Amino acid sequence: MGFLHSFTSGSTVDGPGVRVVAWTTGCMWRCLYCHNPDTWTLTNGVPVTLARATEVLGNYRHGLKVMSGGFTLSGGEPLMQHRFAVRLLTGARAIGIHTALDTNGFYGDRLTDADLEAIDLVLLDIKGWDPERHRRLTGMDVAPTLDFARRLAARGKPMWVRFVLVPGLTDHPDDVQHIADFTGELGNVKRVDVLPFHQMGRHKWTQLGLEYQLEKVEPPSQAQIEAVRERFLAHRLEVC
Ligand code: SF4
Repeated sequence: MGFLHSFTSGSTVDGPGVRVVAWTTGCMWRCLYCHNPDTWTLTNGVPVTLARATEVLGNYRHGLKVMSGGFTLSGGEPLMQHRFAVRLLTGARAIGIHTALDTNGFYGDRLTDADLEAIDLVLLDIKGWDPERHRRLTGMDVAPTLDFARRLAARGKPMWVRFVLVPGLTDHPDDVQHIADFTGELGNVKRVDVLPFHQMGRHKWTQLGLEYQLEKVEPPSQAQIEAVRERFLAHRLEVC
């Protein structure tokens, strides 16, 4: 049994091809720009049996194959429910569906090497570099995320890196350069998504009665986005 917020079908931004995404609930991080704060609490989700979740995926199996897509487990933080996550990903893979895990990587050490075999692609969110700035942004340490990235690289596990660009918060030039260098040196990164900050999650914070600190933050300009993309491109990475 796992707790899921919802399923989305037809996503084209959460891994290759067209995908079904299951959104888990539960996250210990508190990213200031989070646009899914409604997934933070485990019990905001609906309890779903492994059999039922796998059955839902089975219904999409043929369509996903035709559209070169697959299944992505996202959240919240899926590894908060790592046993359920591994079993669901294993079940999806067993019926021939490409699997991706979208994670902040903090609990990567909960996965055994055998567990990693259930995952075809890891979408790793790297949110910062400087430990102090990262902690201010997310409430958590950055080191476990970077350790998980290194472990995936050592195993040759395909990975996409996702970086959210927030003016004044994640755009410190040193941090961007370190993240780009680190990403470029891993050797297993197939793509980098530079994701411009937006305000579309703001209403959820208000609805939940949470203090939203980014009220006045504007999305990055095209020039700012290009400048960050250039840092990754310099490492000959594919950047979207
Ligand atoms: S890790 Fe993801 S779900 Fe958790 S607070 Fe950060 S952005 Fe939100």
